[in-house]
This record gives sequence, C-alpha cells and structure tokens, in this order.
Amino acid sequence: MKERTRFAPSPTGMLHIGGLRTALYAFYLARQTGGSFVLRIEDTDQARSVEGGIENIVKTLHRVGADPDEGFSYVDGELIERGDLGPYQQSKRLDLYRKYALKLVDDGNAHYCFCSRERLDEIRKAQQKAKQQPKYDRHCCDLEKEDIEQKLASDTPYVIRMKVPEGKSKIQDMIRGEVVIDHSEVDDQVILKSDGFPTYHLAVVVDDHFMEITTVIRGEEWLPSTPKHLILFNMLGWDAPKFAHVPLLLNPDKSKLSKRQGDVAAESYLDRGYVPEAIVNFVSTLGYNPTADREIYEPDEFIDLFNLSKVKKSGAVVNFEKLDWMNKQYMMEMDTDELKNRLKPFLNGDEGDVDRIIEVEKSRQNTLVDLASSIAPFKKLQDYDAHILIWKKSDGETAVDMLKEAREYIDGLDRLDDIVLLEASMKQWIKEQGIQTGDILWPLRVALSGSERSPSPFEYIYVIGKTEALYRIDNAINKLKGGS
Ligand code: GLU
Repeated sequence: MKERTRFAPSPTGMLHIGGLRTALYAFYLARQTGGSFVLRIEDTDQARSVEGGIENIVKTLHRVGADPDEGFSYVDGELIERGDLGPYQQSKRLDLYRKYALKLVDDGNAHYCFCSRERLDEIRKAQQKAKQQPKYDRHCCDLEKEDIEQKLASDTPYVIRMKVPEGKSKIQDMIRGEVVIDHSEVDDQVILKSDGFPTYHLAVVVDDHFMEITTVIRGEEWLPSTPKHLILFNMLGWDAPKFAHVPLLLNPDKSKLSKRQGDVAAESYLDRGYVPEAIVNFVSTLGYNPTADREIYEPDEFIDLFNLSKVKKSGAVVNFEKLDWMNKQYMMEMDTDELKNRLKPFLNGDEGDVDRIIEVEKSRQNTLVDLASSIAPFKKLQDYDAHILIWKKSDGETAVDMLKEAREYIDGLDRLDDIVLLEASMKQWIKEQGIQTGDILWPLRVALSGSERSPSPFEYIYVIGKTEALYRIDNAINKLKGGS
C-alpha cells in the first residue's frame, strides 16, 4: 500500500535530533511504499512561532536528503509550497477547523464553554488539592440554548470543548502494540480557542483526514493525546490513520534529551562538519536497527529496509561519540575528490593543493571541520620554541647532528610520491646507521611540523615535498644553534 505520511512540526526554531528522527521515519515509509511524504506546518500556537522557523526545518531536511514531496520543500535553493491539498500551514486553514468545530457542536459532540480563566484555575486547584486528575468539570456542558445564544450575542468570550464519551480507546500502535486508555483519563479538550484558532488536537485530526494521511508517525509524548484524536475521528465519521509513537531520546544519564545538556539542533552538526550520511545514520539508528548485523547503512538502505515494528519501545540514549565514530567511517570510505568537495564550505579557498593532506589525514579526523583544520600546519610552518626539538632522552647537540643527517638523506631521495616506500626505506636507513629511532625521528618530526604532537615525519615529507622539508629542517637547525 502506498503510504502517505507526514511530519508536522511547529515552527518554533531549529529542527532537533528527535524531530529529525521522526521526520526520517515518515520519509522512509513513504518512499519505501512509493507514497508521499508531506510536510505540514503546525502553527496554531502563534506565540511559539519564530521568524524563519519554517525555513530552518525545511532546509535541514533538504541538507540531509529527506525532501518532502508535498507541503513545504526546498527546491533549487528556494522554499516552496506544493501539493493539491494545501495550504499546508495550519494558520491558513482556520475556516476549515471552525467548520468542523461547529459541526461537532451541532451534532452534540462538542459544546460552547464560557468559563473564565479564574474559574478554571479555581477548579484545577481544588482538584489538585483533592489529589484528583485536573479535568474540566463540565460546567457549560448542558447550558440552555437561549443562554448560549444570549452569551454569543453579547460577545462573551468562549471556547469550544469536545465531549469525551465514556469508554476506552484502543490504540494499535505499530511500535508499542496495543495501548488501551480509559476515557476517564481524558479531559474534555478545548478544540477551538477564544481567538478563533483551533487547538492542535482538532487541527491535527482535520488535517490528517483531508491530507489523506495513512500512517501518523510522531513522538511518544503525543500518545496520551491519541484517544482525543481517535474520538474526534469517530465523531466526524472519518477513518483514523494508523499510529506509530516513536520513543523519547535520552541523555546518557537517562534524562530527557534537552538543549541544556548540549546541542540538539540537527543543523548544527552539519555546520560542524558531520556529513549528512553520518547524521542520517546516527539519528535513524537511535533505538532502531534495520538488520542488527551492522551499524553503517547508506541512506537508501534505510528506505529499503525500513520496518516500524523494529523500532525499540524504550527510550534511546543519544551518545554523540557514536556520531564521531560513524562520521569517521563515512569519511574514510570517501575518495580524495569527494572529500575535497565536501571540505569546500569549511575552507578559506586559498589552501592550494590539499590532496595529499586529505589522503594522510582522513582516517585520523572525526569531522570535516577537524580535517580542514589539519591542513594549516602542513601549509605553513608555525613558530615554535627550539627546546621542543630535543627528544627527552637526548640533547641539543645530538638534535643538530641528527637533523643534519636527516637533511642529507632527504636531499638524496628521488622518490617522494610513495609514502609506504618512503617510510620503509627511511627506517631501514636509520637502522643501518645504528641511530636511535627517537633521536632522529623526534627532532625531524618537530622540525617539519612545528609541533610536539603531529603526524609522522614521513607523512610530512610526502605532503610538503623535498624543498619545503629541507627549508624546515634548516630552520630547526638554526633555532637550535640559537638563531631565529
Ligand atoms: N505539531 C506537533 C509537534 O510539534 C506534531 C505532533 C504530531 O505529529 O501529531 O510535535
């Protein structure tokens, strides 16, 4: 069956890791079945909407390759809205929600409520004191028709509330199995607010119906609301979609993943040099693994193998070290040209030839940002203190002698284009000379890199070439002799 799925975020800022996971799962299911992935913007709570909020979400989805087919999408660098069932932004669909709120009233399934905020606060406090679940007390449920008309005529502020019937809702959740919620636990939810906006609960039902959504995939925090939605679907005489509630993401200390414990905005990981494939892999496998025999999947494999019933029911711990590891796996697999391309946004543009640097550094760096910053020491020798040239078991004089020996050896080399050969023959030569490895390789490496901690001298020679290597060695000898 062709599935129509949707991702329905509120435009309240950045797209978080958890939201991205939900979006990806909806994207996979739609793509796997040849259906459509819809991006709908839920902005009924206008106070929470932020400037650029829609664009942030859509752009992040685009950057990770999960462009929606319908609703909002990013095409040729531009934010567009497409699809025949639009508008796909709830604040532009107010008449539709109002129509169904009034229909629910007409059918006796909802009612006007004129209770003041003060009254509602009072009953809530009293219920809390009596250790009861805070719920509407149905004060306005059975008002006389004339009373209602008179209040409406005099512009008394009102909301519309649904009348939750007695009984139970059975949710056949595709991840959690059957979940039964007794309606005694479900409040008479406001469905239309006094400002004329619907609440999320009415809007989500109307939209999922008219947008022909077949499976709703969303965060577990919405599970307690699902009975309200099922009741509304039923009252309106519509078939409900299937549901899958994706478990929460947790910090390593098992608390709910939050901004306070580090960065959770998906886009910031892209900006910090994680490749989209690794982010997709990392986020998709939080509490889910398509085959359980490996951890690395190409984005298309997630589509082919996607299976909601394999998503774990318990909360998934987010461990960003794993993202470093995954990113490294992807970077190591990429060839130099590919990596060079990916590196572009992270470079100043005047680095010149970086091929050999990428070759020697790619298996060592976790991110593109790290890889980009590994370039500078190769390109330009930083100033350093002469004393770091001296190996701990050695002295300055030895360091000078050794650098001179090394200089002569390197000057005599004719092949510097094969790093394996370079390393093997130089080590062989050191052995033949009866020199202590550390005595020569330490000062040589520091001379070439300008740093105590750096890649090997062989990698430096391979990358910077003979002339630059000899220049750096001369510079080191000068330093040790007390020159500049
Ligand atoms: N607008 C809700 C949110 O921001 C969407 C919930 C749903 O997918 O039904 O998470």
